[in-house]
Amino acid sequence: MSIQAPKGTKDLLPKDSHKWHFLENNFRNLAKEYGCSEIRTPMFENTELFTRGVGETTDVVQKEMYTFFDKGDRSITLKPEGTAPTVRAFIENTLYNDAQPTKLFYIIPAFRYEKMQKGRLRQFHQFGVEVFGAEEASIDAEMISLSMRAFSDLGIKGLELNINSIGCPSCRKVFNEALQKYLKANYDNLCETCKVRFEKNPMRILDCKNKNCKEIVKGAPSILDYLCDECEEHFDKLKSYLTAMDIDYKIDPLIVRGLDYYTKTVFEIIQKDITVCGGGRYDGLIEEIGGPSLPAFGFAIGIERLIMTLEEEGIELPRENPIDLFVASMDETSKIQSLKLVNELRKKGLKCEINHMKRNVKAQMKYSNKIEASYTIVLGETEIQTKTAKLKRMSDGEQFEINLDNLKEIFEKLV
Ligand code: ATP
Ligand code: MG
Repeated sequence: MSIQAPKGTKDLLPKDSHKWHFLENNFRNLAKEYGCSEIRTPMFENTELFTRGVGETTDVVQKEMYTFFDKGDRSITLKPEGTAPTVRAFIENTLYNDAQPTKLFYIIPAFRYEKMQKGRLRQFHQFGVEVFGAEEASIDAEMISLSMRAFSDLGIKGLELNINSIGCPSCRKVFNEALQKYLKANYDNLCETCKVRFEKNPMRILDCKNKNCKEIVKGAPSILDYLCDECEEHFDKLKSYLTAMDIDYKIDPLIVRGLDYYTKTVFEIIQKDITVCGGGRYDGLIEEIGGPSLPAFGFAIGIERLIMTLEEEGIELPRENPIDLFVASMDETSKIQSLKLVNELRKKGLKCEINHMKRNVKAQMKYSNKIEASYTIVLGETEIQTKTAKLKRMSDGEQFEINLDNLKEIFEKLV
């Protein structure tokens, strides 16, 4: 048997879990500041949800899904992203009957069968936000502001916000025709994937990573010259709202984000050439999945990439003090006392440990040092008889005489 986690997966080890707790709390609080509530959807969904909701021509659906048949012969897929399941839950639970907009956030694992390379896992995690029911550009601006703060609050610098508008189906139709006309002359030089895109979704050629395709699209027409009045007004408002919030941005007409359902605003946050967040407006998706015709906006942040960025920037996340008090004991009677003492202190919220090994007092003190306990008490016959003990502060070795019956006093010393 191989004692190895499946390729592309990672254990979260105790030495790192504090980082995840900190980041999760931070994101939860931040999302709440913007009026978002948490939604939790299942780890797997019916496959059809993703083929429709993510789009049949996307890499995710064509190559990356973990799909299998369950014992009832249903095609099931481990969720590769959070938007489609959130939309499904919104429709199924008729959340559209509540006061709109519906502002949701989630923290999820996502599963994609990808080629292994730096920054790519097969189980990774995302922070995401989805807002349903608001058509105004002010929500785009607020959600972009939220996503930027998810990085800047942590002290991450050098963030670049790139925005674009990819219009609505009607202005995009005209643009796609102009784009096809431009690309026709270079059709033979496009990569194989883009040859397929040329027919199905020509706009996606604009963000192809292939070198030849990148060269070809340099002179391509810009979607921004084709926006209809409504889409242009939406984009202008977004820009003025971002400016009002002092958020710097760059306009990049090459950002398209794969899906047909994306409309108007799309954006990416880049830090040192790595895309750390992506999102946009997808006014067609709720209806496409079978719900009412309602607008929507969302984004997702890769948590592992966020942590990678923190490490590269040398930003340390605050660590919780592991243990407040270690109680060493010399014999069985004092061990019973140590159990009683920590039981009471834990109820008051202190993190305590006692000895569970065949260790003498010296070895127990060594252990207390190792686990970085803030304080240590040694209990023996004398301590039990006199009901007093010495509370040792491990940082400087200073000792305080305490009364073992006076929990309040011990507690006050410890906090
Ligand atoms: P990429 O272009 O890097 O493949 P994507 O467009 O597939 O990204 P999204 O679907 O927008 O990514 O997911 C949002 C975020 O999730 C990404 O910006 C990235 O930070 C993270 N992410 C996506 N795929 C992976 C993966 N396989 N491993 C780790 N993080 C990932
Ligand atoms: Mg991808």
